[in-house]
This record gives sequence, structure tokens and C-alpha cells, in this order.
Amino acid sequence: MKKTKFKQLLMPMMLPIHFKLYAQILKKEGYNPIILDTPSPTMIQEGLKYVHNDTCYPAIVVIGQMIEAIKKENYIPEETAVIITQTGGGCRASNYLHLLRKALVRAGLEKVTVLSLNLSGLEKEYSIKLSIKFIRMALAASIYGDLIMHLANQIKPYEKNKGQTNKLIDELICKLGDDITNHHGYRKNKVKKQCQMIVSSFSKIPYVKEKLIKVGIVGEIFVKYSNVGNNNLEEFLLSEHCEVRVPGLMGFIDHCITQKFDQIKLYGGKWYVSFIAKLFYKYVQSYEKYANLAIKNYQQFDLIMPFDEIRKIANKVCGLGIIMGEGWLLYSEMYALCQEGFENIICTQPFGCLPNHIVGKGMIKRIKELWPNANIVAIDYDPSATKVNQENRIKLMLSIAKK
Ligand code: SF4
Repeated sequence: MKKTKFKQLLMPMMLPIHFKLYAQILKKEGYNPIILDTPSPTMIQEGLKYVHNDTCYPAIVVIGQMIEAIKKENYIPEETAVIITQTGGGCRASNYLHLLRKALVRAGLEKVTVLSLNLSGLEKEYSIKLSIKFIRMALAASIYGDLIMHLANQIKPYEKNKGQTNKLIDELICKLGDDITNHHGYRKNKVKKQCQMIVSSFSKIPYVKEKLIKVGIVGEIFVKYSNVGNNNLEEFLLSEHCEVRVPGLMGFIDHCITQKFDQIKLYGGKWYVSFIAKLFYKYVQSYEKYANLAIKNYQQFDLIMPFDEIRKIANKVCGLGIIMGEGWLLYSEMYALCQEGFENIICTQPFGCLPNHIVGKGMIKRIKELWPNANIVAIDYDPSATKVNQENRIKLMLSIAKK
């Protein structure tokens, strides 16, 4: 962006903590990221104008939000770029880029540049160049983001002084962002130190433990994390006196890496791809372990379930062969949540998402066979679903939890 004509890079918001850290990394790399984090009542209508209504709900929301922002803020199309992530898997997420381009053309914004962020070698010409340093910075940011989210969810509902956890989160985002981008905060020894600092900071928040309903959230990645996509689900659960647990982003990243060698083992493929994936997984794990090493010193906090444990669960529930959408990760996370005491689970399902209906809603019966106390509700998110309707279904699940 420094070297080209673009003045701003618009990106959709998914995970507030992680994305604020990613934005600082992108800034360091010379871009000017603008995170679109305010839901507007008209963005879905805007999305429906330019995207077919049979398309998955996350695409409608994200594309609608981007087009609305460009129009509202009067950004000059030639000077604007939008960025979208691509997993490179078999589901429709790999085609979002074309969908977005088509929608921009229809909206008369064809001069807006569309960039892709992916690790699969897709759209090379329009991808952000991922240097080793960039990947290391993003890895550190993801580990910090997961750790902060994990601890904040355990302390926020019980904090003595309301708002203290949120204040600490904001402080940590500034501090860690600066450390990653300006002081080599992505190096192993730094990550280890910063994980300890994060846990120690949360341990200082005064809290009063009371009996709250423990609720886990799983589902398709966008509606699971994005408050724009799930109508502020976490806030709603807090207002209903629940302790919320949302599995971290590193689980999804590990899932994408391990899939490479698991698939080759199951269905065949190139040995060296499997070898490289295994090496990369080991490398990522050597960073990830610092989060749990830091938590271990503080008994008040639960550990993050190691990804290898989650992989073992997959084999117990159904197998590692299912990879479309969130694949085996979704049902493994449901079972893992039950093991951690979060037997009440909301499975967020976007409209149009066939893969996640199979590994989410379709697996509830199996999870209940293995864990009879599981109290799971699948909630659909689509352009015509009302917030009241979704909340009423969740309240019904909570009333069963109370009993
Ligand atoms: S996971 Fe589901 S919602 Fe997401 S792109 Fe794939 S089909 Fe669409």
C-alpha cells in the first residue's frame, strides 16, 4: 500500500481481540487497515442486493458490510482495497473472492481492489505476501488473542468492578500490538514472557465466584465469533448470567494444518506435503504450549484443551476423515466442551452452510449418545431470522440447563 495507490484496506471483523492485533501488524507492513466492526441494520439488505440469496449467510453479511461502508464513507474506489480470508478447502469459502468481485461490479464499484489472505496459494496475484516474519507475527497475535479471550471469559461474569476486564483487554491489545510490531514480540522467548504477563494481569482482577450456567459456543467460524454475524450472542449470554466458553482460533488453524497430513494418511497424497505439514504443526505447537504453561501457575483458571486431545476426541466421536466446513473440529469441540463442564452448547449455523449442518446439527444425536447430559441447541442465522426468535430458543435451552 505504501508503494501503490491504495489509501485504505477494509477488513471485516470476526474476533475483536485478534483482529485488532492483526490490524496493527498490517499497519506495520505498510497497509492502512480499517476494521468494519459496527453492525448496521441495512448491511444485510445491501448484501442481498448484490449476492444471490442462496449464498451462505457469512458472505451476505461480509459483502453487504463492505459495500455499505464504501458507499457511506464515500471512499474513492480506485484508492480502496478490501480483504477477505480464504481457507482453500472444498466449501464455498474458497469462492468468496469471486463472489465479492462480482458483487462490487454489480454495485458499480469494480475499481475497488479485492485482496485475499490465504495459506493455500490461491489467487497469488491478489494475495497479501506472507513473509516468514508476517506469519510469525500473526501466530503470536493469534496465541495472545486466544489466551486473552479464554481468560476474559472466565473472569468477566464474576468481576467485582464491572468493566475492569474490558479495560484490561484494551490495555493488553495496545501493549502486545506494539511489542509484536516494534520489539520482536513474536520471538519464542518473548511469547513465553508475554503469556505469563497476560495470565498474571488477569489474576489480579478481583472477582466473586457464584454459580452461573456454563455455556459453550461452537459452529461455523464467522457466526461463532463475529458479533455482527451472531447478533451479539456473547453479550446476550452474559446478560442471562452465563459463563461463556468459545474455543480459540488456534484450534481452527491447527485443524487446517493437521488436515494436510491426516488426509494423506487416509486417502493418499504426496509424502513431502505431509512431511512439511508435520514440521509446521510441530513449530506452531512449540509456541502454543506457552499459553498453558503460564496458566498452570494459576489455579483459578482452566487450561486450554491441547489440540492433540481434541484430535483424539474426533476419532472417538466419528473420525478424522470429514473436512468440509469446520469438519471434524466442530463435533470434537462440542464433546471437549462437555468434558470441560460446559454441557450447555449453542451450535451456530449459518443459512446455506450444508457442511456445518452435517458436522454440527447432524452430530448432536451422536454427542448425546456419548455424553447424555449434553444440552445442545442449533441456532440458525439467516437474513430473515429475527434476533428475538434466536434468543427465545436460547432461553429455552437455558431453562433446561437450570433444571
Ligand atoms: S463453512 Fe459453510 S458458511 Fe462457511 S463458506 Fe463454507 S458453506 Fe459457507
